[in-house]
Amino acid sequence: MQVKCTLCDRIDTLMDSTLQAKRLRNRRINMYLCKTCYDRIDAKTKERHATGKFRLYEEKRQDDQFI
Ligand SMILES: [Zn+2]
Repeated sequence: MQVKCTLCDRIDTLMDSTLQAKRLRNRRINMYLCKTCYDRIDAKTKERHATGKFRLYEEKRQDDQFI
């Protein structure tokens, strides 16, 4: 089946037998990301984790200790 990347509109062809193709057909996921966009987002997410901006949980836990 042919799928269009949600972010860059690139058309990819998925083997109908893949889990991702089945999920898209069943509408269990309705967003397809091509490998390039997926990798880009994945890298950005890891980058943000590395810079420590996702520390809400830790900050909250510290606040609790001061109460
Ligand atoms: Zn894309």
